[in-house]
Amino acid sequence: MATKQAITGGETIKTITTHYIDGAFVESHGREVMDVIKPTTGTVIARVTLGDEEDTKRAIAAAKRAFATYGRSTKEERAKILRRLHQAASARVDDLTAAMVEEYGGVVQFARPIVESGISAFLASEKALQDLPLARSWGKTTVTLEPVGVAGLITAWNANALFICLKLASAVAAGCTVVIKPSELSSLQTRVMVEALHEADLPKGLLNVVTGLGNIVGAELTRNPDVAKISFTGSVGVGENIMRDAAATMKRVTLELGGKSPTILLDDATLDQAIPSALVMAFLNSGQACAAGTRLLVPKSRLDETKSRIREAMRAITVGDPADPKTAIGPMVSQKQYERVQSYIRKGIEEGAEVLAGGEGHPEGLDAGYFVKPTVFVNVRNDMTIAQEEIFGPVLCVIAYDSEEDAVRIANDSRYGLHAAVLGTDIQRARRVASQIRAGRVVINNMTDDPQAPWGGFKYSGVGREYGQYGMEAFLETRAILE
Ligand code: NAD
Repeated sequence: MATKQAITGGETIKTITTHYIDGAFVESHGREVMDVIKPTTGTVIARVTLGDEEDTKRAIAAAKRAFATYGRSTKEERAKILRRLHQAASARVDDLTAAMVEEYGGVVQFARPIVESGISAFLASEKALQDLPLARSWGKTTVTLEPVGVAGLITAWNANALFICLKLASAVAAGCTVVIKPSELSSLQTRVMVEALHEADLPKGLLNVVTGLGNIVGAELTRNPDVAKISFTGSVGVGENIMRDAAATMKRVTLELGGKSPTILLDDATLDQAIPSALVMAFLNSGQACAAGTRLLVPKSRLDETKSRIREAMRAITVGDPADPKTAIGPMVSQKQYERVQSYIRKGIEEGAEVLAGGEGHPEGLDAGYFVKPTVFVNVRNDMTIAQEEIFGPVLCVIAYDSEEDAVRIANDSRYGLHAAVLGTDIQRARRVASQIRAGRVVINNMTDDPQAPWGGFKYSGVGREYGQYGMEAFLETRAILE
C-alpha cells in the first residue's frame, strides 16, 4: 500500500514506505525513516522511509529500459501523454494545494496558483513540441533533435509540485524518461502528485520517483553513467556540487539556483500601485521564493514618502494560518529556516541597517511553529550581507539610489541574476532600464507569467532555461546525418 495512516495520541500520522518505480509503488530498500514536521505547530505529521542507492539504481534501470522505446516515440504519442498527464494532475488540484499548505506552510493564496501553473506546463510543453520542428534537412544533410536519454530531475521544496510538473513536461515532450528526486521536505506533496500522475496510464518506467536525501539519492543520480541529464532546482552550493560531479560522466545540466532580485522603483512610479506590487514580490511564498524581490531600489527624492507608504502597507499584511485565504505570510518551512532568517535579521541590525517594520522573534500570538515577523530594513547599503546573500524569508532591504544609472548599477551589483522588476509609468523608460538588467527575467510593473517565456538565471542564479520550447531544448541533442 502506498500511504498508511496510524492514529497515535489523537494525531493522525501518515507513513510512506514506497517509491514509484517501473509503473508501481514498491517498498523502499532504504530503511532510514524521516519525520515530517508541520511548520505551523512543529509537530510530527508523517514518517517517510527514505530511498538509498539501490532504490535509485532500480529506478534508473527502469527508466533506461523505458527509454529504449519511448526515446523513439512520435510527436503525437508524446502529445497524447502530455494531455493525459495534464488531465490526471488537474483532477487533484485541491489535494495538491492542501498538501503544500500542510507540509511546508505555503499560504493557500500562493499554493493554489503555483499548483495550477505547474499543471499548465503539460499543455505548454505540448504546444512547444508541436511548434518545434524536430527535423530539418537541406541538400544531403538531415538534422534531427533527439532526446538526450534518462533524465534525473531534482527539486527544491518551495514549489515542489510546480518543479515536478515543469521538468517532467519538458522531458516527456523531448522523449526522455525520468527519475525524480523530490526534496525530502516535500514527501507528502510528492505522494499526492505521483498518485495523480499514476492515473495517466504512462508507459512503464517513463516516470520513476525516489524519495530520499540529496547526498544519497541525488548523488547517485548525479554520478550514475546511465543518467544523461540532470535538471536541478535548489541552492547554489548543491548546484556547484552537481555541476562538478556530473562532469565525470559528461552529463548535461540545467541548474535553477538562488536569487537576490532587485525591484527598481523609478521616480515616476505611482506609489499606490508600486508599493503593494513591490511588497507582493518581496514576500512571495512567505519570502521563500527564488524570485522574491528582496532589494527595493528607491530614488532618494522619493525615499521618505516610500518609507511611510511601506510602514502603512505592512500593517495590513496578515501573518498566520496558511490555510486561511486572507493570510499573506505563513511559517518558514523548518526550524533551521526560522533560525536562518533570525540570524540575518540580527546581522542586518549589527551592520547598521534600520528596522522599519518587523524585527527579531515570533510575531505576537504566533509562538508555536516557525513564524517570523515580515521585516523591512531601510538605510541598507548594497554591500551589506543582507543585501548580497539570499535569506529565503520575508526580509526586504530598501536601498536608496541617486540616478537611473545608479539604480542599474546597484541592481546588477549582485552575484545573482535570476529575476528583476521595474516599476514606473513611462513604459519606454521602464523598458530601457529593464534591458540593462543582467537577469534571466525582468518584469515591468507587476509579476506576470507566460508559460512559453524562458526562466533561468545569469551568473550564480544558474545554467540553462526552463519553460516552453527553451525548457524542452534542454532535454534534446542535435544529430546530423550526411549522405
Ligand atoms: P537545496 O539545494 O538544499 O536542495 C535542493 C534539492 O537538492 C533537494 O532535493 C535536495 O535533497 C537535493 N540535494 C541536496 N544535496 C544534494 C547532492 N549532494 N546531490 C544532489 N542533490 C542534492 O535547496 P532547497 O533548500 O531545497 O531550496 C532552496 C533553494 O532553491 C534556494 O536557494 C532557492 O533560491 C532555490 N530555488 C531556485 C529556483 C529557480 O527556479 N531558480 C526555484 C526555487 C528554488
